[in-house]
Amino acid sequence: MHEISLVQSLLCMAEEEIFRRNCARLLMARVEYGALSGVVPKALQFCFDAMIQGTPHEGARLELACLPLRLRCPFCGRVFGGQDQDALHLPCPGCGELFGHIVEQGKELILSRLEIL
Ligand SMILES: [Zn+2]
Repeated sequence: MHEISLVQSLLCMAEEEIFRRNCARLLMARVEYGALSGVVPKALQFCFDAMIQGTPHEGARLELACLPLRLRCPFCGRVFGGQDQDALHLPCPGCGELFGHIVEQGKELILSRLEIL
């Protein structure tokens, strides 16, 4: 499952940071993901909770923030967007063109914040 490897690398990064700063445990991790990144928030949360159980990080919080989709029309330059991938199939609000929209934001997957103790 995609989410397991995601949480693994997230915890790996957190542990490096914890080691580097001579801390003991993770308190909170914030992940920002694009609407097209394929992240299923509920599954990610579930994996996170399962994988920190019985570790020093048990009880840590996972904050998930979805970055909305932002598209740019290559024909008229209009930037538009939507909350999910359905927006990919909408015509450009500027010129009505259906295809070729460039994804400016939506594929990101970023560990944006770590709180450790
Ligand atoms: Zn357009």
